[in-house]
Amino acid sequence: MSPQERIQQFKNMADADPENELCHFSLAKAYLDAERSADAADSFERVLQLNPGYSRAYHLKAEAQLKTEQRAEAIATLRKGVAVAAARGDLMPRNAMGELLRSLGEFVPELEVAREAPRSETGDGSFLCGRCHRSGGKLPERPFKGEIGERIGATICADCWREWIGMGTKVINELGLQLSDPRAQEVYDQHMKEFLMLEA
Ligand SMILES: [Zn+2]
Repeated sequence: MSPQERIQQFKNMADADPENELCHFSLAKAYLDAERSADAADSFERVLQLNPGYSRAYHLKAEAQLKTEQRAEAIATLRKGVAVAAARGDLMPRNAMGELLRSLGEFVPELEVAREAPRSETGDGSFLCGRCHRSGGKLPERPFKGEIGERIGATICADCWREWIGMGTKVINELGLQLSDPRAQEVYDQHMKEFLMLEA
């Protein structure tokens, strides 16, 4: 698929479901990959309007802003992103954005990280979802076999899983995925991991 085709597909998805942050996130990444950095920054901004807690979107928005020479804006985005990620306990995005700030010669505020995420147990042993950070609502069992299924069963709540089922159906329809094709399965899995924040 050409970069232009990918952009068009995600644009169709975002137009069909304008309140869906993942559609805009996918569109923004497609713009970024195609070096359309100004469009990417706009789309990441839309993601953050829909979900101000989406820490990876701050990081990628800042990268897009740096590519369009918006250094001051990128630094502002990173500062906000570091604070949001720390408050949510999103350790890896927080550290990555801290690194980027440092590489720009900027001061990185020492923020206390709320807790390491994703992790499936709170201190008292109850379940905490790695995506929405709400407690309770653990899946009764892993949703499918294999390593990713195990991780989802251990870290993702039933509500988030249900949300993904709805979103996954849209991904299949909009992208015309034939899941018997291993490459289509790969695209689907990538969207799933992104949606469930399994590799933030
Ligand atoms: Zn959840």
